[in-house]
Amino acid sequence: MTSAPAAPATGAAFLAALRDALPTLRLLTDPAETEPHRWDETEYMRPGIPLGVAFPASTAEVVTIVRLAGAHGVPLVPRGAGTGLSGGAIAADGALTLVLTGLDAIHAIDAENQLVRCGPGVLNAELGRRVAEHGLFYPPDPSSYEISTIGGNLAENAGGLRCVKYGVTRDYVLDLEVVLADGAVIRTGGATVKDVMGYDLTSLFVGSEGTLGIITEATLRLLPLPPPKLTLLAFFDSLTAAGEAVAEVARRGIIPVTLELIDAFTLKAVEAVLKLGLDPDAAAMLMIESDAGGEAAAAELDAAEAACRATGATSVLRAADATEADWLREARRRAHWALEQAGVARTDDIGVPRSAIPAIIAEIGEIGARHGVRIGVFGHAGDGNLHPSFIMDRDDPDAEERLEAVRAEIYRAVLRLGGTIAGEHGTGVPKRKWLAEQRGPAAVAVMHAIKAALDPQGILNPGKLLP
Ligand SMILES: Cc1cc2nc3c(=O)[nH]c(=O)nc-3n(C[C@H](O)[C@H](O)[C@H](O)COP(=O)(O)OP(=O)(O)OC[C@H]3O[C@@H](n4cnc5c(N)ncnc54)[C@H](O)[C@@H]3O)c2cc1C
Repeated sequence: MTSAPAAPATGAAFLAALRDALPTLRLLTDPAETEPHRWDETEYMRPGIPLGVAFPASTAEVVTIVRLAGAHGVPLVPRGAGTGLSGGAIAADGALTLVLTGLDAIHAIDAENQLVRCGPGVLNAELGRRVAEHGLFYPPDPSSYEISTIGGNLAENAGGLRCVKYGVTRDYVLDLEVVLADGAVIRTGGATVKDVMGYDLTSLFVGSEGTLGIITEATLRLLPLPPPKLTLLAFFDSLTAAGEAVAEVARRGIIPVTLELIDAFTLKAVEAVLKLGLDPDAAAMLMIESDAGGEAAAAELDAAEAACRATGATSVLRAADATEADWLREARRRAHWALEQAGVARTDDIGVPRSAIPAIIAEIGEIGARHGVRIGVFGHAGDGNLHPSFIMDRDDPDAEERLEAVRAEIYRAVLRLGGTIAGEHGTGVPKRKWLAEQRGPAAVAVMHAIKAALDPQGILNPGKLLP
């Protein structure tokens, strides 16, 4: 169920009631001021015109806003830092965008129990730095870790560069405080590692993309800080050989902390921006890292190097020290931005079983060539998660149509290989129509039933996730 945009009079009455109830709330309504908050990182999408943008500073303020929105039938768009790549936080017509970055307190770091309790507005990297002061480690690290919020990471169930070994955001969530569509505040879990009381509501809200409730606090599980990483780069003369190496690493039971793939097109784009001196003639590069520490790390990289050489690596090099490793990791983290320099880059996000990496790489190449669409491929290959990035000419009138055909063919290939159309960036707006094809109509009906039970008016993030 999706609520219609609020009528202008309704919107005005809502804003007046909001100002009355929360006189100190930061509330923007001037289009010049709301404009930067309409978009996320999907510049190809068409956001709506919001009624306003509010910046609550506490759970109590969120509750008041949600209650008033419900009473006036005004939709709400929860928003973190707006770095999303599936349109989850883009503005909806007549809706109030609710920016949660003000709830950025780190309430408690419990070193004894290896937990942190924080607001959704804290940046991922900031959380990492703060817990590291206590010798602790929060593993989920999307490439956007310096600029994305924990709330956005939770709502998207974000992945990152350490998932091969440590898993995704969901694996570190013990408890959430959530404001529901009727203003009720619930807690979904607790402070224990094990907890099976009732349905697993924590998992339900993680990855719900702001459509089921607004996360106002989280208790996250931490690990002891691992030793510094050792980094290896392997270069290949074909993308398929690099894909074979990924499958071979998994086949040999090697579990590095990071196993990232960059194709030639992306490598050249990164090199043009960062000038790292990477092999410009390579058809693909793998970045493999170990945080096993000391000799164990060296042995893990030796094993990974053997797997790469067995599948045709043309050269292999290791970072001399941590600073060089940080630089090399930057190459991967900047891939999205680097590709944007080459044209309009539309980054997609698919996942396949790791053994199917060579097959999907071959299919993506074949589909792109047949339709004349340039596709850069990079991603968290060790998780089977790739980001085919479509480079479009801004002046090409047919680009959008060709791209739709390419996306459809790639998604069908992914499903044929037992994969997923959305690996870590969310369903958002562009993949809603694919939900039934992947999950089946009965599963989608369950999702609609959950949505109707939790948000009967359909005021939370309309037009996102559900078809
Ligand atoms: C360069 C770049 C690299 C990236 N790399 C990765 C990567 O490696 N892995 C990965 O998974 N993603 C990656 N992303 C995508 C993006 O950064 C993540 O999805 C991130 O989790 C979004 O966080 P945000 O704070 O920007 O959320 P936003 O974009 O503001 O919002 C994302 C979604 O979360 C919802 N939301 C936000 N806060 C709340 C809340 N408190 N309660 C309920 N719903 C909420 C919004 O409604 C929206 O649906 C990358 C993006 C960029 C630009």
